[in-house]
Amino acid sequence: MNSQYTIATLGSHSALQILKGAKDEGFKTLVITLKKHISFYQRFPFIDEMVSVNTFSELPKIEKKLKNKKVIIIPHGSFVAYLGMEGNKKMSLPYFGNKKVLDFEFDRVKQGDWLKKAGINTPEEFKNINDVEFPVIIKSFGAAGGKGYYLVNNKKDFDEKIKFFNGKQYVVQQYIVGVSLYIHYFYSPLTKKLEIMSMDRRYETNVDALGRIPFNVDPSYVVVGNSPLVLRESMLPEAYSMGEKVVKKSQELISPQGLFGPFCLETIITPDQKFYVIEISARIVAGTNLFIEGSPYADLLYNEPMSTGRRIAREIKNAINEDKLNLILD
Ligand code: AMP
Ligand code: AMP
Repeated sequence: MNSQYTIATLGSHSALQILKGAKDEGFKTLVITLKKHISFYQRFPFIDEMVSVNTFSELPKIEKKLKNKKVIIIPHGSFVAYLGMEGNKKMSLPYFGNKKVLDFEFDRVKQGDWLKKAGINTPEEFKNINDVEFPVIIKSFGAAGGKGYYLVNNKKDFDEKIKFFNGKQYVVQQYIVGVSLYIHYFYSPLTKKLEIMSMDRRYETNVDALGRIPFNVDPSYVVVGNSPLVLRESMLPEAYSMGEKVVKKSQELISPQGLFGPFCLETIITPDQKFYVIEISARIVAGTNLFIEGSPYADLLYNEPMSTGRRIAREIKNAINEDKLNLILD
């Protein structure tokens, strides 16, 4: 029955993983691609159809064409980056996920509030410069792969760096020194269970290279790639518990459905083995691209290769079979 539906997404970020997973679950697949990337996406046999655009902002124009195809859109990191939050919300095609969560993801104050109310350990945030305990990191609103973040060590430095924000929204967070660990979860509204699919750590330029030079430079946090990491097993129960708390609180704050599908808690672990959650991404994150063939954590739950992209398609397939698509589409 699922073969009547077409799974579609924008051609970037984690599109290959999403479409490969959709094909493995028996769906038709479609990529909306920039003209210059047509030949790139043609390389992959699991993509059945392509619709090309000059820029992703043309999406509203092609929505009508896609409506006749029983398309289900899977959002990823490029949606808010290229369509903006409003563009994302306005999309009228069936969309996997809860669009109301977008407000809580974009607005760092709302996001911090959600995490704190869920009982999650987060870095301290400073509203008033006079209260700041250095070092701090100044972060712009909205996910941009760490672009435009500044590490600040003293008041003079703060006054200089804050000029870059000129009218833009930002938060000032305590800078946590530790190992970063990004935990990829999937919450199913059908089974009401939380799964850890995989984990990664990011490679960020230039902060991850600073150990290689003997003089001081300002770090930047622009992500260029991801590498796998497994967690000490004794810390795994806490990783599950954090994910469950976040989902539970979302069902009160963003009722009735709350957060479901893939999401990521971006943590830093300090020497006392404490997790600090620096951010939540309420969608598939690009670090899951490491695990198209599954991960150690997905292997513990499934006897077949299960990426996050395939897990999304499996959820849609199960919802179709149980006649519950309304629970997972917005
Ligand atoms: P791209 O597909 O590279 O144009 O990226 C689309 C959006 O996703 C941008 O906001 C990127 O910063 C973000 N992004 C892409 N790759 C990653 C990654 N590996 N980790 C985190 N964010 C990413
Ligand atoms: P984010 O966009 O919040 O995932 O952050 C991107 C990167 O900035 C992270 O992977 C960290 O390297 C760095 N970062 C963000 N917030 C903090 C923080 N509070 N303390 C230390 N590093 C941070």
